[in-house]
Amino acid sequence: MNNFQYKNPTKILFGKGQIENLSTEIPKNSKVLLLYGGGSIKKNGVYEQVTSALSNFEVIEFGGIPANPEYAVLMEALKVIKEKNITFLLAVGGGSVIDGTKFLSAAALFEGDTPWDILTKNIRSLNGMPFGAVLTLPATGSEMNSGAVITRAETQEKLAMGGPGLFPVFSVLDPEVVKSIPQRQIANGLADAFTHVLEQYMTYPVDAKIQDRFAESILQTLVEVAPTILNDTSDYEAASNFMWSCTMALNGLIQQGVPSDWAIHMMGHELTALFGIDHARTLAIIAESHYTYNLEDKKDKLAQYAERVWNVTEGTPEEKAVAGIKKTTEFFQSLGIKTKLSEYTEDYQGTAQQISKRFEERGWKGLGEHGKVSPSDVEKIVEMSY
Ligand code: NAP
Ligand code: FE
Repeated sequence: MNNFQYKNPTKILFGKGQIENLSTEIPKNSKVLLLYGGGSIKKNGVYEQVTSALSNFEVIEFGGIPANPEYAVLMEALKVIKEKNITFLLAVGGGSVIDGTKFLSAAALFEGDTPWDILTKNIRSLNGMPFGAVLTLPATGSEMNSGAVITRAETQEKLAMGGPGLFPVFSVLDPEVVKSIPQRQIANGLADAFTHVLEQYMTYPVDAKIQDRFAESILQTLVEVAPTILNDTSDYEAASNFMWSCTMALNGLIQQGVPSDWAIHMMGHELTALFGIDHARTLAIIAESHYTYNLEDKKDKLAQYAERVWNVTEGTPEEKAVAGIKKTTEFFQSLGIKTKLSEYTEDYQGTAQQISKRFEERGWKGLGEHGKVSPSDVEKIVEMSY
């Protein structure tokens, strides 16, 4: 196992009726900016619950943060934060609203030229304006981690940021919010969380037994709960297991002491930036090619995954590894997710070269846990995903 230091400061309020407890978590006399997305919270009752819990605070609202939180929109919110002397941010939404809020938390205290530098110059945020979250969509884990991904339509970019100052102070996880989530987003949540675990698990083995078992248990739980929650979003127990699995998939726990990959996410982000494909679906497009291309390096772990998660008992380690990759693709497909780029756009020719060129220009010379997935490897992997 590798050395590590681990601290996750986010307080979780989990369960039915927890939104009501918001007010005790926000410092008294805070001036709160309530941030939300396209309006789903106004249809499913979450908005009423949140505003009633905030009745003792001065609250200003900012809605309209789009899926794939857009820089230009966030810059409008930043103006409000400055003009109205906001002191606390409250994100009510899925990964997009929470990520957008993290950007604002960092940007509000940023002293450089332009907040876009935080993304392009890889500036780690050691401090941010304090913020909390009411999660409405289990998927990203953003409610209990310190990372964010921000989109800029003008330049067709989607870049990651983060730092220890960007953990939510608290996050409310009420599984009842799952009831109103459309099937497409439930499928996305399952696929995103599943891939988060894979990115931290499917690496060269360092004999981190507990991290492996944790990771496998999250994968198994997602597989187990998928058909139930897809079929009935009002099943509270299924929603609870789905929600907590997604949080556990990316709150740092399984990442400690082990190498992690994240190449699938890096390539996937480009597909969202170029074609607007839902984040989770881009991962389902890339995963099979990435694991097939890097089979030699990842063979032992893929075989372990096939055995423990999918009960593949027959064959050589290589045959098991290949079977594990196939099971992964079939799992995505069982969620109704298409796994080839050409199923999303007719305009895919040249994408692999375009992405590899972008990575080259950014100096991203080696992705993956060994830092050896080069831009030319990226080109081949993306091409295999057509
Ligand atoms: P999302 O983009 O936040 O939301 C997708 C859609 O679901 C929106 O239209 C949203 O509506 C709707 N929705 C949310 N909750 C709902 C509910 N309870 N009922 C009905 N509709 C609901 O989806 P997401 O998958 O959570 O976030 C994706 C973003 O997170 C991507 O930008 C991705 O790159 C990023 N991400 C971040 C991390 C991280 O660690 N920070 C990890 C992976 C991915 P509204 O617009 O009305 O809210
Ligand atoms: Fe993700």
